[in-house]
Amino acid sequence: MCLKRIDIQGFKSFGDRIKLELHPGLSVIVGPNGSGKSNISDAISWCLGEQRASLLRGSRMEDVIFVGSDKRKPVGMAEVTLTLDNGAKLFSLPYEEISITRRFYRSGESEFLINKVPCRLKDIQALFMDTGLGRGAYSLIGQGKVDEILSSRPEERRTVIEEAAGIVKFRHRKEESLRK
Ligand code: ATP
Ligand code: MG
Repeated sequence: MCLKRIDIQGFKSFGDRIKLELHPGLSVIVGPNGSGKSNISDAISWCLGEQRASLLRGSRMEDVIFVGSDKRKPVGMAEVTLTLDNGAKLFSLPYEEISITRRFYRSGESEFLINKVPCRLKDIQALFMDTGLGRGAYSLIGQGKVDEILSSRPEERRTVIEEAAGIVKFRHRKEESLRK
């Protein structure tokens, strides 16, 4: 697995900056109820481009910004950076390491960066398409996902297989060129 580091600041329960270093092999996050374990997986899907507040367990996108606690004031911006190892060239970019950053301000403004260079959400989605790591891909298996795949209609199940086979990118490009 190529996720090396997660930096979170101002996202959900993480008012202070936190840094999680992940090493090759299995990583497990443990902690009492309400300590922020699921918030970490929300941070990963959010940074990968999740736009549906309900899937981030909120009702509006602003719910991802730290609202303050007894000890700390609310903040004005949520920021998550994922650092991925690209030694095996899984991503079609000529860098050994790739960092993806997403920021969201209370004003409603968003920022996306790849290796600190501003980009569009679409660029991040395109980068992850067919890697099996993107938003909603099978690498993030939420509660109920296995049931959902088993009981889904054949066309929906096909989407999962297409992502795994690496052909989604080409279908998107075809649809885009037909629209132009
Ligand atoms: P469980 O073991 O019950 O699944 P968990 O470790 O997964 O718990 P989370 O769901 O990640 O816990 O964290 C829930 C906590 O995050 C709650 O206390 C909630 O108040 C806090 N939280 C969520 N959004 C925000 C926010 N925007 N600002 C501050 N705190 C938040
Ligand atoms: Mg949880």
